[in-house]
Amino acid sequence: MLIYLMPGGCRPLFFLLAVVLPLVSPHTRNHREQQKHSEKERPKLLLVSFDGFRWDYIYRVPTPNFRSIMDEGVKVEFVENVYITKTYPNHYSMVTGLYAETHGIVANEMYDPALNLSFSMETDSVYDSRWWEQAVPLWVTIQKDGGRSGAAMWPGSDVLIHGMFPSRYLLYNASVSFETRVRRIIEWFSAPEGEAVDFGILYWEEPDESGHNLGPQSPLMDAIIAGIDEKLGFLMNELKKAGLYEKVNLIVTSDHGMEQLSPEKIIELDQYVDRDLYTWVDKSPVVGILPKEGKLDEVYGKLSDANPNMAVYRKDDIPEHFHYQHNIRIMPILLEAKEGWTIMQNLTGLSMLGNHGYNNTLRNMQPVFVARGPAFRQNYVKTSMRSVDLYPLMCHILGIRPLPNNGSLLNVQDLLSLEPTTSTPTSTHTTVPPKVGRFSYAPVVGSFIGVVMVIGFLVVYVITVTLKQRPALKLRSWEMSQPLLQEDLHL
Ligand SMILES: [Zn+2]
Repeated sequence: MLIYLMPGGCRPLFFLLAVVLPLVSPHTRNHREQQKHSEKERPKLLLVSFDGFRWDYIYRVPTPNFRSIMDEGVKVEFVENVYITKTYPNHYSMVTGLYAETHGIVANEMYDPALNLSFSMETDSVYDSRWWEQAVPLWVTIQKDGGRSGAAMWPGSDVLIHGMFPSRYLLYNASVSFETRVRRIIEWFSAPEGEAVDFGILYWEEPDESGHNLGPQSPLMDAIIAGIDEKLGFLMNELKKAGLYEKVNLIVTSDHGMEQLSPEKIIELDQYVDRDLYTWVDKSPVVGILPKEGKLDEVYGKLSDANPNMAVYRKDDIPEHFHYQHNIRIMPILLEAKEGWTIMQNLTGLSMLGNHGYNNTLRNMQPVFVARGPAFRQNYVKTSMRSVDLYPLMCHILGIRPLPNNGSLLNVQDLLSLEPTTSTPTSTHTTVPPKVGRFSYAPVVGSFIGVVMVIGFLVVYVITVTLKQRPALKLRSWEMSQPLLQEDLHL
């Protein structure tokens, strides 16, 4: 409309501005940078989780492949994972950077009173999107940014979340071998340009399963751990054969550790409280208790000092530093067994010799962490990190803007190579989450040119109008004090 209000001589100038101004506006420049970034090849990242691989397993038997990654890359000694140290909460924390109370996958077994639904990793309830959509996993974010992801059995990766699956993924099937999962991931990374994935996630059930069955102290675990190292060697070889080894940033970690159980360390709830008074939601060693209507005080009273090896919390009293309170899926009473203890209703059914889920500050609950690749330093050992810091680290490597999260890139930036990589279009080493890129003169110069052109345009416009209208202005000067009527705008 504005163009029709202009004197004819100004129209070419307007068209010039219409073409030039978008070129220098910061918004459009960012959009073009994003486009450029999604068109060029992104940095590659493969995240591998060996379920239940405790931090110290690498010292227990020779693990030459883990050693090789450490020598060529980085290792973190203490990784504090998230409460509770179970599989589903921790795998979702790794790809969201959120504590369980925030991402909503608070346990392997859950009840949501608002949905009136139960979740169990043993049932198809896992495929109900509603459980997962309190957060956005990294594979969704990278795809919205124009990238591609590939997932081999990672918990939650075969669920429709916020309308998306990973670009390539496998439906969960425990009988699919590690080698098959690796081959599929390699295929996805090796696909032609435009189809290749940028971010891969690979999950393997061991050594968790053997840790539960044998107990971590069993000498039989030695062979299981050596077998995991061989599997890692297989993955490294396949990456080398495909020409990906020097290109792909490889992170190898786990969700939690493992603790030895004992038949002497059992807490029987039936000794203290009638089981008709509550529903048992999640399993040992951190148990969610949902008291029957009106029975909260009674159940809490009966359990609170029942056993010295079990901490009992009302939901409101759960320590803040657990980051395990503010979610409807966390039950009104929480029981936490001391390390190595098992909470049961009675003595029937204990078959495991190892378990996890205990407090995340306990050393035996903590996972291994090694990484190598172009983004990482070489032969560097870091003392500690939190597993929620992994998410901003991965976003930085992949060059995407992280969503709000509980992690901090500052805490883990020393893991990164000091060499500039092509991976930092929207993030920096010093801001978390990165809101602004590195300082550049380009936007300042662009804005300056834009302002000068707008001022120039206005000056030319005013002069042109003044010259054309000068006689009329004299005659109609009284009109200048009249407000513009609405009809005048509808020319
Ligand atoms: Zn696990």
